[in-house]
Amino acid sequence: MIPAEQCEDLPMDFDALRNLKSGLGTAAVIVMDKDTDLVRAIARLSYFYKHESCGQCTPCREGTGWMWRVMERMVTGEADPKEIDTLLDVTTQVEGHTICALGDAAAWPIQGLFRHFRHEVEERIASYRSGRLHVQGAKLIAAE
Ligand code: SF4
Repeated sequence: MIPAEQCEDLPMDFDALRNLKSGLGTAAVIVMDKDTDLVRAIARLSYFYKHESCGQCTPCREGTGWMWRVMERMVTGEADPKEIDTLLDVTTQVEGHTICALGDAAAWPIQGLFRHFRHEVEERIASYRSGRLHVQGAKLIAAE
């Protein structure tokens, strides 16, 4: 996950994307506009990887579900701020410790979200704790 200002003039090749801690992958690109709830979008990706995990290796089988559940609480702001670093730590325990690339693919979007948009998650958690309203995509959500 990289912000627009980093990719407007970026060559679409392995080296350029790797230098930004991203990757060419299957060369599929998802463009998200400013109305997108980035936290929810990455949580949805986490759900996809949890669903697709075949369960053969433990870091992926356990990690994808765990990461998805925490991401869901990041979406609502119910997570504890300390869980951000815990979540990132878990992504590094999944990354590079699985048989196939699905484990890496599950970890990298979360890492990208927090590398570039950590402040959005922190603001969401702060809003939830203070009882303020916060915006998710185009909808205004009342924090409970
Ligand atoms: S990393 Fe690949 S092999 Fe391992 S559990 Fe996940 S999907 Fe299965």
